[in-house]
Amino acid sequence: MPYKYDDQNIFAKILRGEIPNDTVVETEHTLAFNDIGPKAPVHVLVVPKGSYVNHDHFHSRATDAEILDFVRVTARIIADKGLAPGAGGSGYRVIGNAGPHGLQEVPHYHLHILGGRPLGAMVP
Ligand code: C5P
Repeated sequence: MPYKYDDQNIFAKILRGEIPNDTVVETEHTLAFNDIGPKAPVHVLVVPKGSYVNHDHFHSRATDAEILDFVRVTARIIADKGLAPGAGGSGYRVIGNAGPHGLQEVPHYHLHILGGRPLGAMVP
């Protein structure tokens, strides 16, 4: 069954400027902001501006420019927050929840970047 995007979801409202957010990075195709309920010292959500429900929807429908921008914004935040192990950071976790088994709450695609403490063996 094809995905049906709900334009009343909370991230859609954030992207339209109807609800405030604590922006970390904004580009043409991507908005990243601090999670309102942080599970770690660094907890940033990376959100494509297009109307995508989850990772597989984004991957199958987004343009190369949108995908490249999203990946680059994610990497830029990891670098800017000093998390990258290759640059002396202590590491991080990137999580994308999808569907009932993934316990996705907000039906607009986003990745969580978590870091700044040991994150344990399982997702937070
Ligand atoms: O991946 P999932 O959909 O389960 O997570 C949604 C995330 O969006 C939660 O971590 C929640 O704290 C965050 N959120 C937010 N700002 C809002 C509403 C939810 O950062 N206004």
